[in-house]
Amino acid sequence: MENSFRPTSFKVCARTFNIKYVKDSCGLDAGDMGCSNYDLGEIIIRTRLDGRNLPEDAIMETLFHELQHVIFWAAGLSELATSEEVVSQTSNIALQVWSTLNG
Ligand SMILES: [Zn+2]
Repeated sequence: MENSFRPTSFKVCARTFNIKYVKDSCGLDAGDMGCSNYDLGEIIIRTRLDGRNLPEDAIMETLFHELQHVIFWAAGLSELATSEEVVSQTSNIALQVWSTLNG
């Protein structure tokens, strides 16, 4: 079985965000892999798509993507927080760094 890293909360700027992992589209718009709700302090991550479990690396990719939305939002950079291109590019790099940390 693959190792899974499923953090359930984090703090940013004195706010606690909860992370929920849901099957299929529960709480998500159809086709979305995840979403962030700043008002609720909540991230939702999809773990299944079309009736199949998603691989852990896809779940981590979604988690880092949603975290990046929150990071830009917390930094007051709302234009960046709402840019899917910027969020995807920076979160993919952050995940590469995280995945290859040594020591
Ligand atoms: Zn996004």
